[in-house]
Amino acid sequence: MMLKTDVVVIGAGAVGSAVARELSKYNVDVIVVEKNEDVGGDASKSNSAIIHTGYDAAPGTLESQLVVAANPMYDDLVKDLDVPFSRIGAILPAITDEQFEKLPEIKAKAFKNHVYDVEYKSGKELLEMEPNLNPEVKGGLWIPRESIIDPFILVQALCENAHDNGVRFLLNTKVVDIKTEKGKIKSVVTTGEEIETTYVINCAGLYCDEIAEMVGKAEYKVVARKGQFFILDKNTSCQVEHIVLPIPTKVTKGKLMCPTIHGNMLVGPTAEDQDSKVDKSTSAEGLQSITNDVKNLVPGVNVRDTITQYSGLRPNRNPEGLNFDMWDDLEGYVNLSGVRSTGLTLSVSMGKYVVEQLLNHGAGFKLKDNFIKKRRGIVKFSECTIEEQDALIRENPLYGNVICRCETITEAEILDAIHRPLGARSVDAVKRRVRAGMGRCQGGFCGPKVIEILARELGVSPTEINKNNDGSYMVTGSTR
Ligand SMILES: Cc1cc2nc3c(=O)[nH]c(=O)nc-3n(C[C@H](O)[C@H](O)[C@H](O)COP(=O)(O)OP(=O)(O)OC[C@H]3O[C@@H](n4cnc5c(N)ncnc54)[C@H](O)[C@@H]3O)c2cc1C
Repeated sequence: MMLKTDVVVIGAGAVGSAVARELSKYNVDVIVVEKNEDVGGDASKSNSAIIHTGYDAAPGTLESQLVVAANPMYDDLVKDLDVPFSRIGAILPAITDEQFEKLPEIKAKAFKNHVYDVEYKSGKELLEMEPNLNPEVKGGLWIPRESIIDPFILVQALCENAHDNGVRFLLNTKVVDIKTEKGKIKSVVTTGEEIETTYVINCAGLYCDEIAEMVGKAEYKVVARKGQFFILDKNTSCQVEHIVLPIPTKVTKGKLMCPTIHGNMLVGPTAEDQDSKVDKSTSAEGLQSITNDVKNLVPGVNVRDTITQYSGLRPNRNPEGLNFDMWDDLEGYVNLSGVRSTGLTLSVSMGKYVVEQLLNHGAGFKLKDNFIKKRRGIVKFSECTIEEQDALIRENPLYGNVICRCETITEAEILDAIHRPLGARSVDAVKRRVRAGMGRCQGGFCGPKVIEILARELGVSPTEINKNNDGSYMVTGSTR
């Protein structure tokens, strides 16, 4: 059977989700095609989770324009979509004289990017703000609007809200070809059904070059740039309250230390170019380089308090740079590439930019008058007052059954994660929605219980429950 739509968005990472949500404000039919079992993307679920200001972007670029525009949008967006977010601010300490001399250049760049709230701070002021900073600090910059977010919830929320507004999501479905006719998009061939469509928006991140190849527009290559991280226990002795950033280099923003929105310490990332788009291993050398570099900023950082390590792959582009492309000889095709180190932040302004460009190119989309702006998040039992918890348990006793002890996640929250629109179908999908398994024991205790609940609620055997994508079974059968 052939499906029919107006727009196919390829990829349900931050960018595809934001594009889909923006389109859902209009009277236009949209299908998001995602090869993974869940929305959330690839790079979008393995990053530093910082909403940047754009202070250090290359001035005059599309990336600078979009990051600077995006940052203020988060104040309303996170309220509408119920996404954990905090404007904790960043400090950029200069530890050496050489670094100190670079500060005016960095501040001038921030001003070129229209980020005017960047300020100098003395070493003394920085140590008052951040007592665990290297006491040698000579001074630095304060960037108040650098912020932290829950990147998983951001993308889920964008997708759930797009879904509430009529967008269809085809998960576990890979785009394998795009058909064109007389210089126009005709259809998208997937591992599921073929979709007849007028527009295709390529938001495939690491694989955007392979999609571009399908329409003969492969003018670049994606080079994965790996970033490794440590996540430290919430109780680690040496903590920071702000995002502590090193002086950036041409290749990377450098290795930082900051709190996550849920109170762990995040330390990293590295920046290592690699050929593989799937190798997300961490390495002893990579992790050691993080420890070495971050100790210059925060000497007491204790990586022995690590509860997990992970890595993400930045969809870097060769030739470099964030690109938005449409072609006169290929009507209906939009290509996004080089969404590299700031894509989580700029996803929301990119959504608006894409739609504006389509409208400017003659798309006759009309705004709906019934757009649902708000999304209801999952109740966080652990963040409720005793009275609220009591009321929740009286209303639904499953709030009284704690499944994840480290993060105090209840069975009721897991059921909400499974049964809401675009609900969780795998153990990782539950984890990203409610944090069961994100704590100190990393699912050692609650993992089997989550498998049991998923199997019961989905009416399948535990052997059919995946960790994430199809085939990543966690239970293979009984031992006796
Ligand atoms: C280490 C690291 C740190 C970072 N830190 C930050 C930060 O602090 N702040 C910030 O703003 N940004 C940060 N970023 C960048 C940010 O994470 C990315 O730019 C952003 O997530 C890219 O989003 P995306 O939607 O383009 O790509 P992705 O999240 O990769 O999503 C692309 C989606 O397309 C799907 N797809 C691909 N091919 C196909 C196909 N053929 N058919 C169907 N689906 C397909 C994939 O499965 C995936 O879900 C960081 C990135 C990394 C790796």
